[in-house]
Amino acid sequence: MSPIRGVPSGWIGGKAFAGSGSHYAVIDPANDEVAASLTLCTAHDVDTAVDAARSAQREWGSATPADRAGVLASLGRALAADARLLADEEVRHTGKSIRLATEFDVPGCIDNVDFFAGAARHLEGKGSAEYSGDHTSSIRREPVGVVGSITPWNYPLQMAVWKVLPALAAGCAVVLKPAEITPLTTLTLARLATEAGLPDGVLNIVVGSGAEVGAAIAGHRGVDMVTFTGSTTVGRMVMSQAATNGTRVQLELGGKAPFVVFDDADMTAAVHGAVAAALINAGQDCTAATRAIVAEARYDEFVDGVADLMAGVVMGDPYDPATDMGSLISRGHRDKVAAMVDRARRSDARVVTGGAIPDGAGAFFPPTLVADVAEDSEIYRDEVFGPVLTASPFTDDDDAIRRANDTVYGLAASAWTRDVYRAQRASREIHAGCVWINDHIPIVSEMPHGGFGASGFGKDMSTYSLDEYLATKHVMSDITGVAEKPWHRTVFAGAR
Ligand code: NAD
Repeated sequence: MSPIRGVPSGWIGGKAFAGSGSHYAVIDPANDEVAASLTLCTAHDVDTAVDAARSAQREWGSATPADRAGVLASLGRALAADARLLADEEVRHTGKSIRLATEFDVPGCIDNVDFFAGAARHLEGKGSAEYSGDHTSSIRREPVGVVGSITPWNYPLQMAVWKVLPALAAGCAVVLKPAEITPLTTLTLARLATEAGLPDGVLNIVVGSGAEVGAAIAGHRGVDMVTFTGSTTVGRMVMSQAATNGTRVQLELGGKAPFVVFDDADMTAAVHGAVAAALINAGQDCTAATRAIVAEARYDEFVDGVADLMAGVVMGDPYDPATDMGSLISRGHRDKVAAMVDRARRSDARVVTGGAIPDGAGAFFPPTLVADVAEDSEIYRDEVFGPVLTASPFTDDDDAIRRANDTVYGLAASAWTRDVYRAQRASREIHAGCVWINDHIPIVSEMPHGGFGASGFGKDMSTYSLDEYLATKHVMSDITGVAEKPWHRTVFAGAR
């Protein structure tokens, strides 16, 4: 395939923008070819984008909810009309399978846009009351202002939509930096938003490196809030950059989701669920099932079932609809995943299936099951972010819950059981932002997504995410018209 031509390095003030930085090649990781080339944005370009956002935000923030909703609904229709283009671009820079892009990424984004078009009309405060007897109080929910967003490469379009839509619905303007290795669909999203009637400057994209452009956004005095999705290490750097200005922060970080299979589980469902949830997006998913923790009595059955099903997964050309799993994001990342599996193999763990880099072009790595992993091993504790599931047995329910919680992360988890009380206990006691029962991965626009602990704080999706982008203002008005108020006596006695 020939490289995509004319890719801008940003979208600022409603127009394509050519960054003033160095040339950069976006690589198609499934075949190592150049997918697109552009010039990167710089910290100076971030200033331009923030200026554009600041000029546009006031008017957008004071537009009626109905007007904002109308623009967002048009954007939803534009995404639906260009669904195939978006899916193709998403495959081109990530190497993910076209089935995943067309059946999960793009429809999920369209639904999210539609949800926030509706939610834009539900920003009401808590109403008013006369709590003091002398005043009436009301609550205004106002946009926080200009939002700086920084997104990762695993679901480029979805991550952009999750950040941009609630911010726009709340009346904020946005400056967003996608991962520079996957800029294509975020740029298309911004173009479609402008074409759908979003006022110029309300959504600005700057494609650049994390160290320069990401850091410039996080530490910018013209940014009122920073929202970040990415690794825990970088998230903490972003938080400290934002702290220099005392800027509000929301962080969606890494995960190491436990997948707990009790002895009464429907094993067919658990095995299918584990393979699907471990391999979705080639395992490059912060909520992916990574640590299967299985009742001793059913452990061998689970390991054999997962290995059999993984062996039949078709890996290859991401554009072939028969392909189940595409490539990883880059050869560099694939090599890191392979090195972690190698280190596990050299310890006491058992690589049951997969685990070896295939010959040929592209950043491919096969579905891999590593069984009998030690609790203190790297592969059990650290994020792999590849198509790798570990398995280890537990002795009783207390041990299952203890192991599930034995992680610094707290993003997602699942429990597999037919016993309603076990399910209730797992949902109460597992420390994670989402606990699935007898499933693992599904998300809906109406429900919040976000983690605990080293997985960050704050929520994407749902009306909870709108709260992230709103500032709550109390307005208290005197209703007596009296000059001398009782509380004045605490400062001076009697009238002067
Ligand atoms: P990353 O942290 O390397 O990069 C994320 C973004 O931060 C990129 O745009 C990058 O350019 C930018 N960045 C890098 N250095 C920066 C700096 N110093 N200052 C500001 N920005 C900087 O993450 P990644 O490798 O792109 O994505 C994978 C990670 O994202 C995984 O850890 C995964 O778990 C996490 N993730 C979390 C969620 C969630 O919702 N919790 C969703 C998707 C991905």
